[in-house]
Amino acid sequence: MNWASIDSVLREAAEAWRPPPKLSLSEWADEHFYLSPESSAQVGRWKTLPYQREIMDSLADPRIWATYVHKSVRIGWTKICNSVIGYTIDQDPCSMLAVQPTVDDAKGYSKEEITPMIRDTPRLAKKVFEDSEEAGPRESGNTILHKRFDGGVLSMVGANSGTGFRRISRKRVLFDETDGYPASAGSDGDPIKLGMKRADYFWDRKICAGSTPKIKGSSRIESLFESGDRRRFYVPCPQCGHMDFLVFSKREAGGHYMVFDTARPRETAHYVCSKNGCVIEHHQKREMVERGEWRASAPFTGIASFHIWAAYSFSPNATWGQIAEEFIEAKGNRETLKVFVNTVLGETWAESGDVPDWERLYARRETYPIGTTPHDVELITCGVDVQQDRWEYEVVGWGRNKESWSIEAGAIPGDTSNLDDWNKKLSPMLERSFATPSGKQMIDMMAVDSGYNTQTVYNWCRQFERDHVVAVKGVAGRHMLVSAPSPVEVKTNGKRSSRAYRVWPVGVDVAKAELYGWLRIGVPLDGEPYAPGFLHFPQYDDDYFKQMTAEHRVPVKIKGGFTVMEWQLIGGRENHRLDTRVYARVAAAILGLDRLDAEEPEAPPVPPAYAQALPVEPVEPVVQDEAPDSRFSARRARGWLRRR
Ligand SMILES: [Zn+2]
Repeated sequence: MNWASIDSVLREAAEAWRPPPKLSLSEWADEHFYLSPESSAQVGRWKTLPYQREIMDSLADPRIWATYVHKSVRIGWTKICNSVIGYTIDQDPCSMLAVQPTVDDAKGYSKEEITPMIRDTPRLAKKVFEDSEEAGPRESGNTILHKRFDGGVLSMVGANSGTGFRRISRKRVLFDETDGYPASAGSDGDPIKLGMKRADYFWDRKICAGSTPKIKGSSRIESLFESGDRRRFYVPCPQCGHMDFLVFSKREAGGHYMVFDTARPRETAHYVCSKNGCVIEHHQKREMVERGEWRASAPFTGIASFHIWAAYSFSPNATWGQIAEEFIEAKGNRETLKVFVNTVLGETWAESGDVPDWERLYARRETYPIGTTPHDVELITCGVDVQQDRWEYEVVGWGRNKESWSIEAGAIPGDTSNLDDWNKKLSPMLERSFATPSGKQMIDMMAVDSGYNTQTVYNWCRQFERDHVVAVKGVAGRHMLVSAPSPVEVKTNGKRSSRAYRVWPVGVDVAKAELYGWLRIGVPLDGEPYAPGFLHFPQYDDDYFKQMTAEHRVPVKIKGGFTVMEWQLIGGRENHRLDTRVYARVAAAILGLDRLDAEEPEAPPVPPAYAQALPVEPVEPVVQDEAPDSRFSARRARGWLRRR
């Protein structure tokens, strides 16, 4: 042995004992992070893209306590989340909480992303304890949702369950797909607040959230983005060097914008420089993005927020031509366009046009039990839509100013061509009572659509008093909610009945426009009254709200070159809930709901209530072998008006 070799041994020993230099997240990922075959098109070592670097490094930057990413798909977000977890395990072990929209999502994320990452990233494999099937008392027992590693733990939870948030404290909290979160985690409250609270005890806590956005105004990631310094990725025009961010279509606020020939979007899509109109070809994208930089548009207060979308992506599935083509495919239909705007552009969907958003209505559901109303109502009506194998119905309670509470919505299975089935299955509905704060109340009027199995509808309806059950038929193009009833021929066993029956024509266009106007009324601030027409809903499932908002008004060319607006069903939706609500509304109108608002409470309801509610229209002759309308209407009207 000579001195030189001893020296080198000592040097090596010193090297070995020195703590490794702390890497930034992107440096760590480029060196140690591997993509697994289960979840990546490209397998092998990770390579940080230009626009990903600052997002990733902000996640390990001690000056930044929160990072929020408002994003589209195809920009590598899931892998960025994985790398944060991997980096924490390897470089900065501590306790972590990863929140997915549901418990099932959390399990899927663990199995498809976290387990393969740990397996394929050598530095992690040796630090994370082995999985064990039973979540037994053993300290090292790892489960799908719970991974222990040297110096820390990772818990994965679903935002739909409060359980995962209880009694734990975590230094890093990662919220993924926040716009898929429910309003409340079980009954425990807002999942974002719950998650953030878990990190309250750490001075060096770190919150990270990312999502493709949903509805403007109610998007969680949008409001988180706004709370930060709002960074966008600026790229230089390859010709004149002007720096700007990329937008999809030309807008006042600026941005290089995309242009394409709608007949050949894939071949023609390119960008136009926002300053000098220079043409930017797709093959220049990579170079441009490599020279790009993040610029904030709001002051920095410890929160870094980023907006990034597919136009920057190097993914072969996100070429400008591909994006343009997807737009052309999506633009004809409101639902697909919304998905395009949210997922490809990474932008919120702004409410416009005629259709209220079902998600908003779903989010404002109230907690009163189905089958009851939490507020006293003036009258209860039921709308029935007749299908071949069932009756769809909705029971609605109506208050003053047309404020309404949906009481129950459902379907009664049965053969609607068979009068016996009607008597056995639908008739009991009229015997039911519904709880209100001041006692039980029954259905004041049921309105049944006569468009299907028409004669059976007539035959069933005419068994009841005409102020209790009415047959209605939708008529397009009317300008009135409901017109005076017209006589129709009724056949019993194929023979013409001597008595005519009267059917109420419903102006469905008017009814739907009114309903959609009401559905757009916002929830009032604390203590403020509800606006006239406000609708309250119990905890129905999402299908109820999708059906309620299933139609939109589209311009249609008619003969003579005129354009008229026509209601059309949105692709893939059913609309029974919309129809039953309209019929329940018509029943309320027939009973005088519309007159109620203007009336003094003490005014004697002597004239037929319904007659006042109806716009004046010539009444067709009625066969006079039935009781005149005024008798029954006045009686029923007195009945329910007295209850007030
Ligand atoms: Zn230019």
